[in-house]
Amino acid sequence: MRVFQMKRIYGMIFVLLVLFSTAFAQSVHYDVFLDTQETHFFRVKMTIRNAPEETLNVAIPAWFGLYQIRDFAQYVQRVRAENENRQRISMTKIDKQTWQIIPGTSGTIQISYRVFGNDLSPFGTQLNTKHAFINPAMILFYLVNGRNRPVTITYHKPEKWKIITAADRMENRNASFKAGSYDELADNPVEIGNFTKRSFTSDGAVYDAAFYDYHKEFDLNRFTEMLKRIVHYETVQLMHDVPFKRYVFLFQLVDSHGSGMEHTNSCVISFNRARAHRDVFELSSLIAHEFFHAWNVKRIKPKTLFRYDWTKENYTRALWFAEGGTSYYAALTRERADFWTRRQLLDHFAKRITQEENDPGRFIQSPEMASFNAWFEKYPWYERPENSISYYRSGEILSFLLDLKMRLDTRNRFGLDDVMRTMNGLFAKRNIGYNDSRDVLAVMNSLTGKDYSDFFARYISGTERPPYEKIVGRAGLTLRKTLKELPDPEFTAERNFDKPFVVTTVENESPAQKAGLRINDRIVKINGKPTELYIRDSYKGMKKGDQVTLLIKRGSREELLSYKLKMTSKPSFSLQMQKKRSEFQMKLLNDWFEGKP
Ligand SMILES: [Zn+2]
Repeated sequence: MRVFQMKRIYGMIFVLLVLFSTAFAQSVHYDVFLDTQETHFFRVKMTIRNAPEETLNVAIPAWFGLYQIRDFAQYVQRVRAENENRQRISMTKIDKQTWQIIPGTSGTIQISYRVFGNDLSPFGTQLNTKHAFINPAMILFYLVNGRNRPVTITYHKPEKWKIITAADRMENRNASFKAGSYDELADNPVEIGNFTKRSFTSDGAVYDAAFYDYHKEFDLNRFTEMLKRIVHYETVQLMHDVPFKRYVFLFQLVDSHGSGMEHTNSCVISFNRARAHRDVFELSSLIAHEFFHAWNVKRIKPKTLFRYDWTKENYTRALWFAEGGTSYYAALTRERADFWTRRQLLDHFAKRITQEENDPGRFIQSPEMASFNAWFEKYPWYERPENSISYYRSGEILSFLLDLKMRLDTRNRFGLDDVMRTMNGLFAKRNIGYNDSRDVLAVMNSLTGKDYSDFFARYISGTERPPYEKIVGRAGLTLRKTLKELPDPEFTAERNFDKPFVVTTVENESPAQKAGLRINDRIVKINGKPTELYIRDSYKGMKKGDQVTLLIKRGSREELLSYKLKMTSKPSFSLQMQKKRSEFQMKLLNDWFEGKP
């Protein structure tokens, strides 16, 4: 009887324990305080309930967004842990980004620290007196053994500041959000401040667009019209899919160059305010690119990027497809959604081929290897034209060639649009990652009934020159090569995304060198104007013997250098429609321009 009773009691305790452990599973809440704006420090409190009694490791990512190790732990200071009785718990830093705590008997522990952020860019984080822009992975610790647990967060902001993010808002809470995991929260950047906002609905989804630092530089109605055309084309017409209920565009107006960062249900895009003032439609390329990432790379994901390792490099050989393919669709979107004429689209691809053909890096690096080595892009030597290629550009050209080739091989029944839609069904909708180029190849082979292994081996894994002339020729286009006299800057320079250009080589005995230009000089202005996206564009329209002035910065000193321009001759390509096209070629090109079948 007693035994029996004991059993019953044990049984009840067991049931209670199970109930407790589900009701009080380990949970994480973050409080982010924005009250020390002048010093650009975020104060963060991480509360872990039902912490285990044994060791607990917390860490902050070494990278995020950019394929670059940036070690956000360097910005973290004053880390301390307390138990629920507000007693200090000792903690030890065990590697560059990880702290170890032994909570003891305490159920709840609170870790507090401050973290610096004063970089306004889609890959940055900034707190100042005007606003806060936050990429959560740059300021929040995660539980090393609990990244999959649900998390909640509260931003403690000045009352007048508004807040926008694609994360799920907690009921009746203005500045509190929830996510299924740390990684999901990290995928939702936040803008907090007095931004300007526009919203619209399209094909069953709500789109919110927030503009930071907008001062009526351009017509917002025209801008919204551009967004509508891009999202409608890419969701309904191209992908036949609206994979979200709400999507958020976070725009940052800046005086430097723009850049963009994609997320699952949002993107962050910075752009030059003067350029937007000139014509907002010029931004359609960047926006169409970032928005297309909502499929390509965020949902159609390479296997190796499916679950990030936040502590080190995550390698993929497929960025030529994930990034280059996305750039290809940005260009097609511009033409198919009527921002560009057909002529402009052809000129665009001819320009890309010209750039590729003049890039010495193509002899030593394949598009797959450029993808794999993306993590070296923060190093100026690696970024020199002779040492690497751009997987954006080579991938865009390869996508163009593969699209035409598939259409040619299938009597125009299938093209790259079908590859994207098929991969969306096979991988994104089943929530699995694809196996780099191998799965792209498999999808192309199965759609066409042909074997593209040879193409992949020679031009994607290999460094052979793709047969441009042959493929475009069969499709009814002519690729014409001419030698062009172009302004010769006499130096090369590289920059890390939106940072200033840094001179990497100066031609020996050149007028630029004689004028005093040196390696490592930073280029502030060329001919009185801020540098364009590519150095050569700053020389556009100049003639032999014209005076060049370079405003450079060496250390903290600025200097004005001046010399006479010389010219150089380089191969240049143009794409023309063939005069005599067969009916098939006419239909193929027409369908390609219009995004059919
Ligand atoms: Zn991209």
